[in-house]
Amino acid sequence: MNHNPKLTRRDFFKMSGAAAATLALGTGASAPANVQAATLSLGTHVKASLPKAKGPRLVVVGAGTSGLTIAKYAKKAYPRFDVVMVEKRDMYSSCFSSNLWYADLINLEFLANHSFLDAARNNHYIFFNATCTGLDRAGRKLMTNMGEIDYDYLVLAPGIDYDYSRIGVSDAESETLLRTDYPAGWTMPTEHVTIRDKIHGFDGGLFIQTVPGGNYRCLPAPYERACMIASYFKKNRIKGKVLVLDHNPDITIKAKGFHAAFDELYKDYIEYKPSAEIKGVDVAKKIIKTEFDSYRFDDAAIYPGVRGARIIETFGLVDPNSNQKEANIDGFKYHVIGDERVYVTGDSRPMPYSKSANTANTEGKYVAKVLAAHAQGKSINWESPRTLCYSMVNADPMEAISVDAGYAYDKKKKAFGFSSDTKLYENRDQAKGRATLEWARGIYRDLFA
Ligand SMILES: Cc1cc2nc3c(=O)[nH]c(=O)nc-3n(C[C@H](O)[C@H](O)[C@H](O)COP(=O)(O)OP(=O)(O)OC[C@H]3O[C@@H](n4cnc5c(N)ncnc54)[C@H](O)[C@@H]3O)c2cc1C
Repeated sequence: MNHNPKLTRRDFFKMSGAAAATLALGTGASAPANVQAATLSLGTHVKASLPKAKGPRLVVVGAGTSGLTIAKYAKKAYPRFDVVMVEKRDMYSSCFSSNLWYADLINLEFLANHSFLDAARNNHYIFFNATCTGLDRAGRKLMTNMGEIDYDYLVLAPGIDYDYSRIGVSDAESETLLRTDYPAGWTMPTEHVTIRDKIHGFDGGLFIQTVPGGNYRCLPAPYERACMIASYFKKNRIKGKVLVLDHNPDITIKAKGFHAAFDELYKDYIEYKPSAEIKGVDVAKKIIKTEFDSYRFDDAAIYPGVRGARIIETFGLVDPNSNQKEANIDGFKYHVIGDERVYVTGDSRPMPYSKSANTANTEGKYVAKVLAAHAQGKSINWESPRTLCYSMVNADPMEAISVDAGYAYDKKKKAFGFSSDTKLYENRDQAKGRATLEWARGIYRDLFA
């Protein structure tokens, strides 16, 4: 290792966080030699400015649904844990429920008026605003752009990243244009702002919403979004149509309820095309190509493939059997294979559960108990996560459909699938419309209060 003894802590903070992150993540970007030497040596010398741990230190990376649940409930289950939450965003805004904002059913405060600091104070853990950049599992150290953190237990809950190669886009220029001009709206809050502006400023024509294949984040959400956009067009007499280009042979969940909404509420506003796998996008000409057709759009929200968050791959934790680069973990206990100190949870898990907030929240409560048990030399029985998921299909009046799913392990197939108590509620009604908002409020309370 190349040390630079002259580098001070002040120098470190003056350096660009991005440069530090890039080098530690090993993306191959070039930087001046002196910066490289300085950055590489930092990983071993600069400690994060944190109070001394008062018990076994549990570091959680990612203050999304999964991480926030685990930080809170691990502390409850085993108060000796000294919990540190590492999150790169300095402001929370919810991914779930964002579709409702497009149709003005909620305001931005509903999604964003939740403070990481309140969550930490109310639940007796430390919030540390930093980007996790490296991992030394042998030394039990996590690197961040704000210094190194020693851990006894580490939970990585970093969510997802997009995989544009799955829609035939493999050059960085087209991918960057797509991310900027036609964002998917399934990760960063800033994508939601852009999509809402597109919908509210739409002059008419064709708006394309794509649906990827694989186990993408929130199966019903692209169809819910189509309903919310169509309802906005209908209400505001915008001469627009939403074309849903679906990679899959049919709507992936709550199909009856969504088809009914498309046909009965939005006949003139939604066109649904199944088995429309995207093979490429010509961004300049605004053309999406499928195997047999080309579609020219006026505007779009292009949802590419989904993969486990990039740090899972960077840290060498990808499951070789996962075609979405999800983590190589024990399906029942969530620890990395061969390492009971590092866990991966939430939407980077490889199990075929619905990548949704309710799943991450119920799973997080179970993982918190697993961690507490391990720290006390005990073990607990597996508990299935629960996917309770509402989809708003009508804005005026508010009407929704829902699913309530559990999971079971099939020993013969050696695979997880839906459990037999899974139920679909596909007749839209106003009670479920109200429950959609109540469900979200309940999750926010659970994460932040
Ligand atoms: C439009 C939309 C609608 C949805 N609708 C529903 C719904 O109706 N019902 C439902 O149950 N779910 C819904 N979901 C899905 C739900 O939001 C997610 O599945 C769930 O929040 C996943 O939780 P997570 O903690 O795994 O990931 P996330 O919530 O994405 O959290 C990951 C966190 O990790 C942080 N992070 C990542 N990398 C680093 C790093 N290197 N260093 C530090 N921090 C890092 C990120 O900033 C982020 O805060 C919807 C999602 C979207 C986008």
